[in-house]
Amino acid sequence: MKKVIYFDIDRTLVDSVMIRELTRNGMCRELNLNRETINKIIDEYVSTLDNKNDFNREEMLKHISLKTGVRYDLLKNAHDKPKYYVDALFDDVIPTLTKLKNDGCSLGIFSEGFTDYQMDKLKLSGIYKFFDEDKIIIVRKKLREDVVEKLGEAIVIDDWVEVIDYLKSFPKIKTIWLDRVNEVKLTDLLNEIK
Ligand SMILES: [Mg+2]
Repeated sequence: MKKVIYFDIDRTLVDSVMIRELTRNGMCRELNLNRETINKIIDEYVSTLDNKNDFNREEMLKHISLKTGVRYDLLKNAHDKPKYYVDALFDDVIPTLTKLKNDGCSLGIFSEGFTDYQMDKLKLSGIYKFFDEDKIIIVRKKLREDVVEKLGEAIVIDDWVEVIDYLKSFPKIKTIWLDRVNEVKLTDLLNEIK
């Protein structure tokens, strides 16, 4: 049977902090906006959210458009330049995905957030092709029994220790914690994955 490996997206495959910086700087540069003003407008939007998981790219851009008078489509275009997403990939990602794919593994995504933007992160960064379409699981809350059941027998790699702890009670799941804070790399974990 093919080995199935699921990856989290944010801070596991893509550096979300870097995406935030690159997209905000890009919008400001292209559309002549002031970075501090944009930060304030975005903070204002974020303060309306109950939970940081409710963050929604479209809603954020709509709010910026409303406050600055810059057209939404121009903001969206400046925000979603593939280059930013390629640059924000951790440098161990392509070598690891390539190796696992060559070894015959089946690769999936186990991620939390809004589907459109999570899918765009995979597509704009160019790594979408590594994953099996039927193994892309993106939900608003992933730490739920019915969601985990969908993974079947699999390895799950995530940077968030709470996810790892939650999954430990599922016997079919093998977990691997990717400690990005301490700069652990996927390539350091290949022996554990195999
Ligand atoms: Mg994460």
